[in-house]
Amino acid sequence: MADAVTKRRFTPEAGCGRCARLDAARRRAARDRDRSAETDARVLIKQHISADHGTELAVGWS
Ligand SMILES: [Zn+2]
Repeated sequence: MADAVTKRRFTPEAGCGRCARLDAARRRAARDRDRSAETDARVLIKQHISADHGTELAVGWS
C-alpha cells in the first residue's frame, strides 16, 4: 500500500467502535498487568487499523 501512513502512536479513530473497544481492552490489560491480553490487543489493533484505516504502526508503537 503505497500511501499507508506510518505512526508511532495509536489514536483511536473518531467514531470507530472497534478502535474504541480494542483500545479499552489494551488499557484494561495494561492496568491489570495481563501481558498476554495486552499482546493480543496490540496485535488486533495493528491488524485493524492497517486493514480498515490504512495506517501502519511502527515497531514499538504505544
Ligand atoms: Zn478503527
